[in-house]
Amino acid sequence: MQRCQGCSHWHWPAVSRCSECGAWDPPWQDVPIEGAVFSWATTWHPFGGTEAIGVPYTTVLVALPHADNRRLLGLWEGEEGELSMGAAVVGSVGATMVGKTEVPSLRWRLAR
Ligand SMILES: [Zn+2]
Repeated sequence: MQRCQGCSHWHWPAVSRCSECGAWDPPWQDVPIEGAVFSWATTWHPFGGTEAIGVPYTTVLVALPHADNRRLLGLWEGEEGELSMGAAVVGSVGATMVGKTEVPSLRWRLAR
């Protein structure tokens, strides 16, 4: 995640300039891929570019406590019934086909 050296503000998505203090090029800082479920949604119909992901699939929005609760979106790897607000989760970086291009994607699962 990006964190401003001028004011310590966390940024996501990535920015070239801090929206809080105007500093340029906030540096990247490693953050554990873990957090708490903020929200989720299940998609039942395929739409353009995501045909490689079998439906239904669930996307989860996770608040990262190590980055001032900035939220990251990713695919859920468990059962939808396992999800609850605030549930502790861990993530990993996987890959997803978007059209004919493989792109990195976050995958979330319950922390054990
Ligand atoms: Zn700043």
